[in-house]
Amino acid sequence: MLKPIIIAVDGYSSTGKSTFAKMIARRMGYIYIDTGALYRAVALLALENGMVDGNGLLDEEGLKALLYGPKPPCITFKVSGDGRSRTFVDGRDVEGEIRSMYVSGKVSRVASLPFVREFVDGILRKIGENRGVVMDGRDIGTTVFPDAELKIFMTASPEIRAGRRQKELAAKGEIVDLKTVLENIRERDYADEHRPVSPLVKASDAIVLDNGDMTLEQQMEWFEDVLGRTCCHGSQD
Ligand code: C5P
Repeated sequence: MLKPIIIAVDGYSSTGKSTFAKMIARRMGYIYIDTGALYRAVALLALENGMVDGNGLLDEEGLKALLYGPKPPCITFKVSGDGRSRTFVDGRDVEGEIRSMYVSGKVSRVASLPFVREFVDGILRKIGENRGVVMDGRDIGTTVFPDAELKIFMTASPEIRAGRRQKELAAKGEIVDLKTVLENIRERDYADEHRPVSPLVKASDAIVLDNGDMTLEQQMEWFEDVLGRTCCHGSQD
């Protein structure tokens, strides 16, 4: 019997991490966790509770009290019949809202707060305690699970990523011009790479996947090749 492992898929926003991570989770028979959804859910809670003022200033103390108070929010995932995972906060489906530009514009700021990262990391470590998971995020291979058996770091040019994100938003009925999407991507890259806590950085033992001009099929071939070469797809019990 092969021992289950943790596969960390980190990298820049809109590199197609979730699509790729979902596919490899299916291939491995593992659980897939979109860690960005947790940060997005926390950002949504901050916005809904009036913790972000008109100038974009965040009420950090208020958010801390909410996350660590007597009734901390319960963030969960449910996989629907079509295999898509949806995010719930205290039983409420927030999947649509957390993907909006309204939340995208605030999430990196919220994710830069150490107490928010601690809150999310606690949830992630609990989910991964039995291994057998694929997690996509920014710091899974560096901070959350530095002992992950396989680490993949995804990248592509900002222009290619903006084009992908714009299409994704359009498919959900949110029409945003390319320049605005590109600006948001650049801002998020900068915020993710420069935050003092858990910045976005490639783990020294991560394998880079630049999928700028790769089809999904090619990415899966790449993955099979990596699995075969690294022999890290679980050790014998
Ligand atoms: O992956 P996604 O773009 O949905 O993530 C939203 C935001 O959450 C990112 O821009 C980043 O600021 C933050 N994030 C993070 N660490 C993770 C996952 C996401 O800081 N592990």
